Amino acid sequence: MHPLLRKEVIEMYSEIYQALPGRAICRFSYALRTFKEQDELYAIGRTKPGKKVTNAKSVQSYHNYGLAFDIVLLVDNKGNSKFDNASWETNVDFDKDGRADWFEVVTICKRYGWEWGGDWKFTDLPHFQKTSGYSLKDLKNLVKSKKLALANSNYSEIINKES
Ligand SMILES: [Zn+2]
Repeated sequence: MHPLLRKEVIEMYSEIYQALPGRAICRFSYALRTFKEQDELYAIGRTKPGKKVTNAKSVQSYHNYGLAFDIVLLVDNKGNSKFDNASWETNVDFDKDGRADWFEVVTICKRYGWEWGGDWKFTDLPHFQKTSGYSLKDLKNLVKSKKLALANSNYSEIINKES
């Protein structure tokens, strides 16, 4: 995650962890994605085999700036506390408190001011982002003018190369 969001995300995650005491736990499956990782994902279903997983090329996703994460539920189906089943089911009440676990996570994240992909016209149910008003173009320009330092120093090289 972007360094300015790390503390908040850790706090939020521990709240989520406590809110789901049942057969499922929440994992943040993707936070920062480097430009290289993003391009590799973009290639799946296009130049590489498989089903398309993203419509965003590098520089086109808030993940590339550490301002987004995706969730998945890990379910303990066998009761052995291994939580080894990934689930993207949004309507299952794994902890039997009358609310679907997925939406418990959504509620907590929104309370912290995160935007949820489930509210978009083309929904992205596992996705959350906090843009603080920065468009992707703003972020790209900030990196380009070296006003935004990123965890991975090769970002600026890539941006300068492609534009
Ligand atoms: Zn995402």
